[in-house]
Amino acid sequence: MKTLSYLALFLLGLGLTACSSNEQHLNEHHPETVEKSPVKLEAAPEEGHEGHHHEDWSYQGETGPEHWAELEKTSDCGGMHQSPINIVEYKTDETLPPLDIQYADQTVLHDVVNNGHSIQYDFEEGDYIVLEGEKYYLKQFHFHEPSEHTIEGVRYPLEMHLVHANKEGDIAVLAVMAKEGGQSAPFDFLEAYLPLEPGAKKEIGKPFDMNLNLPKDRSYYHYTGSLTTPPCSENVQWYVFKTPIDISLKQAKVLEENMPVHNYRNEQPVNDRIVKASPNF
Ligand SMILES: [Zn+2]
Repeated sequence: MKTLSYLALFLLGLGLTACSSNEQHLNEHHPETVEKSPVKLEAAPEEGHEGHHHEDWSYQGETGPEHWAELEKTSDCGGMHQSPINIVEYKTDETLPPLDIQYADQTVLHDVVNNGHSIQYDFEEGDYIVLEGEKYYLKQFHFHEPSEHTIEGVRYPLEMHLVHANKEGDIAVLAVMAKEGGQSAPFDFLEAYLPLEPGAKKEIGKPFDMNLNLPKDRSYYHYTGSLTTPPCSENVQWYVFKTPIDISLKQAKVLEENMPVHNYRNEQPVNDRIVKASPNF
């Protein structure tokens, strides 16, 4: 725990950043494209067609998070309702219901890809959550190291984003923090498919119970924000679990070695938004 905490504190000062480009495609109603050519998602295809080469965004230097709004001119990255945020001022809302999570133990994990920005696992259709009577299907999950959201200023060693979309392409993300602790059996399964070079993909084709990656305590923070990678599209429903899960230091290091250095976007202003906290479940 000490090593990771130190690392996280150190990173705070660097101001580096992100969400996966799959989220971008989900927003464009083309989730199927994601599975077939995950690497191409990173570039902005529209601009490529016009002939001027456009440098890809990244987490460092001149293409880092501080420059996304200018790099990606048609994006929402300069918007007023962006993610991630530091969750520090919030109102407990006793009327917020427990999350209706319908994850089955036999949903098939289709593949894993290193998309150059994160390690991402893509699901076949099966798992979903229900928000206000509507189904949002789990498409993929991926990692940020260290975490993007901070809770009362605390940056966790790892944050997992479980990306869901409804039939209209509206997006809801469950965010699960991980801290260093005991070894996680589901992470052993997931990491058996690593390492992966940037751009590489491996088929999995095996069932995976995503419930195993959720904390037992399902209390959460909720707010409306954005994708944390370009195009930073807004109106994403965020549900950040208050309680982290445990993974071992070794498991954190395996992920770290497979991802770009410090793939997190810097904290965004809350502006006029109100962050709500659920009661304890
Ligand atoms: Zn993400």
